[in-house]
Amino acid sequence: MLERSKAAYEEALRYIPGGVDSPVRAFKSVGGVPPFIERGEGAYLYDIDGNRYIDYVQSWGPLIFGHADKETLDAVCEQAQKGLSFGAPTLLETELAKEIVELFDNIDKIRFVSSGTEAVMSAIRLARGYTGRDDIIKFEGCYHGHSDSLLVSAGSGAATFGNPSSPGVPADFTKHTLLARYNDLESVKRCFEASANIACVIIEPIAGNMGLVPAEEEFLQGLRKLCDEHGALLIFDEVMSGFRASLRGAQGYTDVVPDMVTFGKVIGGGMPVGAFGARAEIMAHLSPEGPVYQAGTLSGNPVAMAAGLSVIRRLKANPKIFEILEARAKGLVGGFKKIADAHGVPLQVEVRGSMFGFFFNENPVKNFDDAKRSDLEFFARFHQEMIKRGVYFACSQFEAGFICEPLDEKLIDETLEKIEEAMKKLV
Ligand SMILES: *Cc1c(COP(=O)(O)O)cnc(C)c1O
Repeated sequence: MLERSKAAYEEALRYIPGGVDSPVRAFKSVGGVPPFIERGEGAYLYDIDGNRYIDYVQSWGPLIFGHADKETLDAVCEQAQKGLSFGAPTLLETELAKEIVELFDNIDKIRFVSSGTEAVMSAIRLARGYTGRDDIIKFEGCYHGHSDSLLVSAGSGAATFGNPSSPGVPADFTKHTLLARYNDLESVKRCFEASANIACVIIEPIAGNMGLVPAEEEFLQGLRKLCDEHGALLIFDEVMSGFRASLRGAQGYTDVVPDMVTFGKVIGGGMPVGAFGARAEIMAHLSPEGPVYQAGTLSGNPVAMAAGLSVIRRLKANPKIFEILEARAKGLVGGFKKIADAHGVPLQVEVRGSMFGFFFNENPVKNFDDAKRSDLEFFARFHQEMIKRGVYFACSQFEAGFICEPLDEKLIDETLEKIEEAMKKLV
């Protein structure tokens, strides 16, 4: 029953393009009406028709302690009483910066912004300013926010200069973005051969925006080597994987050390926060210390910092949480795989800490082309059956899933029962 959501969606469509403020929320790739949410609590979402869902989206990643988490809310409310924004420095910013910098040998300084998009956009500007070069390399299927130079698609093939993937992005901008194939070092070499002007290589070291597709260790090693040989910076975009895959994000899995890292999602604990960091010598180029300009009226917002600080401190005090959440994620996709096998449905699964992914695909998924060969039509039908049964998975085959702390084994078992029911219906 989604009667009220249906009416709400129709009304939203009259006032907001597509009825939503971020496109994927419209459920276009799975069909049906997006449930309008009234509130969340722990692992659950409640919509305005009174339906309850076990939520594997958690606001697309940020809510590692679940919805309306009491400790986070207390931190937010306490800070909000003192004022919502000052446009002047606060102690909170230094405290959060310290907590993050302490975890990474390769990050001496960090700058806070208000979204992941802004973090990546600013990191790339800094990489360009630092190296004095214009071109960048990104990978097909990686998402780095919606800034102009990153909305690029592959044109005739990988390892070419990109084409705009959206109207409104001048080709003059995207000609500085070269596209390579994920987990394919040769395609990166071709990019370096095509341009002697590469400022940086940016990658999601654990890709979560084409479904969950981790980079292979040799591939990351190869990137590091190529960047060093060519004097380019290596940027890990950990807006999603940071404080999600492990306490040190992808750096908890690989020995490869990036020059810059971007954060978002979990570091704001549900409030709008992004950040980028690097060693002091690179960060010294950033305004007001250096000439590369970057600013924000609400950057380092005190209420958002309080939320982030509360969450990051708790994670640092209890790093075992990542093993616990990983065990649950493995329980979920392991059970899912067994059910799929029993029904003859091809399924690929992957887990990194509290992140998981699944593809209705016969072959292992190593890059975006592989991911696109998944059965999208089956995914759409599966998604609808799960929504009907009160399980809220991301509404696209090309998204990761997230386990939050309140989502325990009991809820995983309940989810597996619903998956079993859905499979019976679908096959
Ligand atoms: C979500 C995401 C972004 C963009 O962050 P926003 O806060 O949505 O602007 C950038 N990079 C990665 C890897 C992301 O997952």
